Amino acid sequence: MSDNTDNLDDLFAHNRAWSAQMERDRPGFFTSLVKQQTPRYMWIGCSDSRVPANQITGLEPGEVFVHRNVANIVVHSDLNALSAIQFAVEHLKVEHIMVVGHYGCAGVKAALSGKRIGLADNWIRHIQDVRDRHHVMLESLPEDARVDALCELNVAEQVVNVAVSTVMVDAWARGQKVRIHGWTFGVHDGLLQDLGLSVDGAKPLDAIYKAAVQRIRYKWSRPGEVMQALTTQGAQVTQAVQEAQAMSPQPEAGAAGPAAG
Ligand SMILES: [Zn+2]
Repeated sequence: MSDNTDNLDDLFAHNRAWSAQMERDRPGFFTSLVKQQTPRYMWIGCSDSRVPANQITGLEPGEVFVHRNVANIVVHSDLNALSAIQFAVEHLKVEHIMVVGHYGCAGVKAALSGKRIGLADNWIRHIQDVRDRHHVMLESLPEDARVDALCELNVAEQVVNVAVSTVMVDAWARGQKVRIHGWTFGVHDGLLQDLGLSVDGAKPLDAIYKAAVQRIRYKWSRPGEVMQALTTQGAQVTQAVQEAQAMSPQPEAGAAGPAAG
């Protein structure tokens, strides 16, 4: 047998051991899973093998509904992603959707450099749109900060794309409580970061997006002052939201999108 076959046998062996251990530790665990899944969370993340949703968050089978693709992109016409979001929101009634990018993302690196990798260039083109929208900011940053800054900008952009989808607009119009978050994951330290993008359909989306972009610019242009930026980010969001609300007393959920960065 080849090494490959041996490796696959290992996977089945590990699976049997895991199943037996779960049943020993929590008798009836799988029986209860069969009945239904009632996850409170939906995770939209990168397909990267180093970013497994359940392990990172300590969630068990049945606790998080997951959609992953190259570079955690939500395209307006991607029926795969939209169907997953619709099922999660309308049928599973998840309360939180987190869009999770990760630092050092190969898809984001390729988008930033323009490196051709094949068919996926067409997918990554969506991140190049983000890059082009924010090119002035990105070019003003230290070169070694640009990939990670674009990882965060991509998350901000995809949070907006989820928020303006018909699924979310309709859910909020029905009064459904579901919140979208923008997070990043550090492959280098195993830690999640909340980018402060929390969208609930009530607060103006455009203001939340712009405040997030400002924080990203500030954070990566002054790497030594990251902690200070993180400390002030809550105040900046609050101020931006208050200003936007003052200008627009009756904002419509999902009506605003990103303008320019
Ligand atoms: Zn990635």
